[in-house]
Amino acid sequence: MQFIIRKKENIEDQYHTAAIIGAGPAGITASIYLGRAKIDTVVFERMIPGGYIVATDKIENYPGFPNGISGEELGNLMEKHLKRFDAQVKTEEVTNVELDTYPMKIITEEGSYSAEAIIIATGTKNKRLGVPGEDELVGKGISFCAICDAPFFEGENIVVIGAGNSGVQEALYLSKFAKSIKVLEFLDHPTAEGILLDRLKQKDNLELLVSQRVTSFIGKDRLTGVEVEEKTSKKKKVLKVKGAFIYAGVSPNTDFLKGKLDLDKEGFIKTDEELRTSKEGVFAAGDVRTTSLHQVATAIGDGALAAHNLREYIEEK
Ligand SMILES: Cc1cc2nc3c(=O)[nH]c(=O)nc-3n(C[C@H](O)[C@H](O)[C@H](O)COP(=O)(O)OP(=O)(O)OC[C@H]3O[C@@H](n4cnc5c(N)ncnc54)[C@H](O)[C@@H]3O)c2cc1C
Repeated sequence: MQFIIRKKENIEDQYHTAAIIGAGPAGITASIYLGRAKIDTVVFERMIPGGYIVATDKIENYPGFPNGISGEELGNLMEKHLKRFDAQVKTEEVTNVELDTYPMKIITEEGSYSAEAIIIATGTKNKRLGVPGEDELVGKGISFCAICDAPFFEGENIVVIGAGNSGVQEALYLSKFAKSIKVLEFLDHPTAEGILLDRLKQKDNLELLVSQRVTSFIGKDRLTGVEVEEKTSKKKKVLKVKGAFIYAGVSPNTDFLKGKLDLDKEGFIKTDEELRTSKEGVFAAGDVRTTSLHQVATAIGDGALAAHNLREYIEEK
């Protein structure tokens, strides 16, 4: 690999030994480990530390909280833990990186920074369905965040699209607000865990409909209905609803990395077992990398491993 050498004394950028992009569970864990190892680290977070879990009602499968914990509370605890080890957190979105220079360069909307090694932990975002009416009605009845928007649908008929863990979990939360909820699944079976499906069955105002393809969202200024097609019969019908919450898979936050790192066909970062990416000195951790499970526990394990390997990389250099 050929590096473009830039002498440190000539660098105008703010220099740090390590940079972490994204302060969800993976990035926060990596920062705690690097802080304790006394490695000068800067953390970039475009919103608030905590990541995706902050928008989640309850986490029940993260050890240490036998009664479950709200996503917001767990996020707050993680943020406190992050700050305990003097993390230098910048509330800035990373828009570009230059990975072939030495040190590498990180560009945000506010300025530019340089670092010897980087951990990318930018997580994922909810996928859109890509059907007519969707882009126009996001924020006007279509939402991706039950915690944020549930109170707007008090007493209304709504749909949740996707019967995986996230969809069913959030439908259960929404059932405290909405009058009735149809959970629409594209496959011929739901993919959520059994315990969540048991709870869904116990709720009078929740109904699961499988083999349903959403073909369009209807409404001018606000959502008034969702058109669905039964997959085998191809029969279409319109469900009159005022709200639609979409949990139909995720895509990685890697737009700023295209052409700079090896990504899989969906855009997730490819890593080896040590979480090294295709560029020397760049590691990836958590949901943003190609992995079979997107959970807090796996993101945290990744954050620890990536930080450990980054430390070894710096020491070897
Ligand atoms: C509705 C829902 C329910 C869930 N329930 C559970 C559950 O019960 N149990 C469980 O274990 N997991 C659950 N999860 C999954 C869990 O939230 C994720 O697996 C976990 O948050 C992944 O952590 P991460 O650090 O990899 O990424 P994220 O949590 O996504 O954090 C990534 C961070 O990077 C930031 N970022 C992104 N791009 C940039 C950029 N360019 N510049 C700066 N910052 C950037 C983001 O703002 C974000 O804060 C749920 C997820 C959802 C959506």
